[in-house]
Amino acid sequence: MKYSYVSHLYCPKCQSTYDHTEQNQLCTCGSPLLVAYDMDGLKAFWQRESLLDRENTLWRYHELLPVASADNVVTLGEGMTPLLPISNTGKRLGISNLYVKDEGLIPTGSFKARGATVGVSKAKEVGVKELAMPTNGNAGAAWSLYSSRAGITSHIVMPVDAPKITRNECAISGANLSLVDGLISDAGKIVGKMVKEKGIFDASTLKEPYRIEGKKTMGIEIAEQLGWNVPDVILYPTGGGVGIIGIYKALKELQELGWISPDKFPRLVAVQSDGCAPIVKAWKEGRKDSEFWQNSETIAFGINVPKALGDFLVLEALYESDGCGIEITDAELLHEQELLANEEGLFVCPEGAATVAAAKKLRESGWIKENETVVCLNTGAGIKYPDTVQINVPILQPIE
Ligand SMILES: *Cc1c(COP(=O)(O)O)cnc(C)c1O
Ligand SMILES: [Zn+2]
Repeated sequence: MKYSYVSHLYCPKCQSTYDHTEQNQLCTCGSPLLVAYDMDGLKAFWQRESLLDRENTLWRYHELLPVASADNVVTLGEGMTPLLPISNTGKRLGISNLYVKDEGLIPTGSFKARGATVGVSKAKEVGVKELAMPTNGNAGAAWSLYSSRAGITSHIVMPVDAPKITRNECAISGANLSLVDGLISDAGKIVGKMVKEKGIFDASTLKEPYRIEGKKTMGIEIAEQLGWNVPDVILYPTGGGVGIIGIYKALKELQELGWISPDKFPRLVAVQSDGCAPIVKAWKEGRKDSEFWQNSETIAFGINVPKALGDFLVLEALYESDGCGIEITDAELLHEQELLANEEGLFVCPEGAATVAAAKKLRESGWIKENETVVCLNTGAGIKYPDTVQINVPILQPIE
């Protein structure tokens, strides 16, 4: 048995192929690259049953991950987060099988750890010593911490408004952190200049091909946790879109392996804030890619991405799965964040709350049916965003 059945990289736009043992960024045509596996080899040698005695991290799926040697794996024990039934909330919404996949329990407090463990491990494998990336906070936090563990130097640029805790996570890891008075797209331009001038590896979202592979494990886990039955609907808070592209890719691969039925595929939903909804707008207009969203603003910082490099892949996943795009307001998601804590004891991040607010709307419109199995992705811990909760508590005097 091989540790990984990674075969090569390919371009979904122009079909060029690349060698995964080298350092790769975008295709020469400008498209992100995707990872291909030796599916025939996998089908012949890899059975679902092999997972039974494996460690409870996402590396349990190492055959379908791109790191060729176990020696290069940089892990903090990430993955296999709980898939929690939320029946109280389900009753209120009129959805009988409603779940939250809770990524708040993962190292660094957001699912960005999935992309980082696989991305940093592969970077180490191909000899990267120094990397740079723009971030809205969580990705920078995860990549700088995993880079430290791998002995890789990291340069992180984030907006001044990004959640303070993510700034601290970068700083304490020893990353070279800079703040920019602007959006993630402005941070991206600074990183672009930096990598060009200094020849540093560009770890920007989708400019390196491997974080998708880490994030796709959310899709594999959902299938495994439901006994290899896929849900009817998966709702995902969509920024750069890597998570939803990954989940789509994973489920396709599982179908190819015969691990899940070829007859049922979940309808994938891209959830965005009405303050930054380029993917939703493109989906409504039936377009294949999105336009830059001017003056984007939302409290759900992780999904404040005005133009995603992989927009065409997100939209393909929506169209191909009969899914949809939906936007909700910050007020709606904050309200849902509070109700989830009230009803379920779950303190989810604003982005995660957005998916439940979206499920509510889609149930009301009839797009989601009462008896369907619905999975909402909570992409991070609510405790990373203490300022989203406004409280007014009386202070008592001690009793003498
Ligand atoms: C980055 C992020 C998202 C968006 O993820 P993509 O895969 O880039 O679409 C959602 N929620 C949180 C908490 C994030 O940090
Ligand atoms: Zn190409």
